[in-house]
Amino acid sequence: MLRIDRATYDGIVAHAKRDHPVEACGIVAGPEGSDRPERLVEMLNAAGSPTFYEFDATELLALYKELWARDEEPVVVYHSHTATEAYPSRTDIDLANEPAAHYVLVSTRDHGNNDGPVEFRSYRIVDGEVTEEEVAVVDALPSAPVPQTSHPSPDQPRRT
Ligand SMILES: [Zn+2]
Repeated sequence: MLRIDRATYDGIVAHAKRDHPVEACGIVAGPEGSDRPERLVEMLNAAGSPTFYEFDATELLALYKELWARDEEPVVVYHSHTATEAYPSRTDIDLANEPAAHYVLVSTRDHGNNDGPVEFRSYRIVDGEVTEEEVAVVDALPSAPVPQTSHPSPDQPRRT
């Protein structure tokens, strides 16, 4: 199940509507291993296409450096479909290389740039196999768990 807070959900939907009819793409980062989508990062669709998205290579490299420095990972990887349903295409499946990520698909085919509901669905994609999962939109994510003693404390550098 994907648990996501309302503000982040609305942010993804707003990005998808703004970029329509071009596919919008981005990620929501969270602490490594937390499964908490906390920080929305809108990315550039380098393909600029209504039927395809591609992260910009330079921007993607900078993003991964930033995630690394912050001990974060992409908890959600999202993009929009602007003319078809919110289901991963063959290309999307082939490009999915984050088995721990929630792949969110938003379809803006019904209302485009305008107000109105969108399809918002989430999937796990592992080894080319697509499994849809439930999406729970909450007012706020529950408080972060207290760090376990087996994990490094947040005050300590985790990498040397
Ligand atoms: Zn797609």
